[in-house]
Amino acid sequence: MTAMPTSPCSALFDDMSGALTQNRLTVQPGQILHAYGVRLLVLSAGFGTTPFGERQELSVVAVSHDDARATYFRAWNMGLGVEYARREFVKIEIPQPNKRRWWMAVSLDGKGHFEGANGHQEGAPCTVCADSPLDPSRPNYEPCRYALRHAWNTVNDWDRVAPGRRHYVLSAAADTWEQARAVAAETCERIRTVGHL
Ligand SMILES: [Zn+2]
Repeated sequence: MTAMPTSPCSALFDDMSGALTQNRLTVQPGQILHAYGVRLLVLSAGFGTTPFGERQELSVVAVSHDDARATYFRAWNMGLGVEYARREFVKIEIPQPNKRRWWMAVSLDGKGHFEGANGHQEGAPCTVCADSPLDPSRPNYEPCRYALRHAWNTVNDWDRVAPGRRHYVLSAAADTWEQARAVAAETCERIRTVGHL
């Protein structure tokens, strides 16, 4: 039996697709990955070169106590060689579009405490999704279509400049940035202390 997630972001888990089959290389943050017989939220996804070749690294955390018991009570990394990953298919759940959903790039300190976040809300006025203005003092706005992508790009930038630090892509359903940021902070604290969502 799968226990219901009880984290601050658990409301969003009602908003996932059914399990779909996808190539391992295309797994994205915010998706729920089915692996080892459990459900894992993908906190970050990236590629890196090691002495053993190019690898895909997924940072994941169990979505419930039962899922953690079969894996780990912490956020952990699943690394796999790209040559293997390109032939592997996995089951994932995809977050559905949601006007209240924020996607956040979250930075943690060396002990796993929430340090700060940048966020974009789906459909909200966004300068990144708009054309660059001729006059930089008068920015253009378009409804945000790539909030997840913005957060993921930010995390990838941070990974380059601070490679030892942990960075997550988290989402929250909220009406304001302050609420979304508070959910991100609570979620990080829950991952650090309880070890699952
Ligand atoms: Zn945008």
